[in-house]
Amino acid sequence: MLSADFGHLDRDTKMIDGSSAEWIHIDVMDGVFVPNISFGFPVLKAIRKASAKFLDVHLMIVEPERYVTRFVEAGADMVTFHIEASRHTAECIAAIRRSGAKVGVSIRPKTPVSALQGILQDVDMVLIMSVEPGFGGQSFIPESLDKVRELRGMADAAGLDTIIEVDGGISASNAAALFDAGADVLVAGSSVFGAADPVEEIDKMLNAR
Ligand code: ZN
Repeated sequence: MLSADFGHLDRDTKMIDGSSAEWIHIDVMDGVFVPNISFGFPVLKAIRKASAKFLDVHLMIVEPERYVTRFVEAGADMVTFHIEASRHTAECIAAIRRSGAKVGVSIRPKTPVSALQGILQDVDMVLIMSVEPGFGGQSFIPESLDKVRELRGMADAAGLDTIIEVDGGISASNAAALFDAGADVLVAGSSVFGAADPVEEIDKMLNAR
């Protein structure tokens, strides 16, 4: 939703709600973990009101453990936080679980997949950032494909069915390669909202599965 028109948030949310997209991805930025500020609880609540879809909330904020419960109360079905942003990873995972939402952790492009060792069995999803977090409209970092393959291998070896999500620079042109590498969920912002027909762009990406 970062690429939606916030002056017409209800319209844009309902457009996605009526599309074949399965989840709605919501990027929360605090201006500290990333050099940009997006929005918080009131906007999430407004999106929750306008859609029945699964709300996938991606926190790019420091000390996420302080806020995760409130994001669930505001409507999040999944809360994902950056392992680089929390010194209390286990506590943060437990707080999300207690709130009744699914748990995701995310890594920036420079953080290796090996940093997830010891955490993987405790989370439902891993979000691999395929651009530096903080801004929409950036180009996909090709090495992200290797990280998806490596993570899928690590999850398989541990007998886990970890959901792998990829976020940043994704469009119909690289969706097939990402699904082939082992991704389950692709996040798309500017490629959807910038398309002449956003609903058709979503269909194209999903048809690449
Ligand atoms: Zn995101």
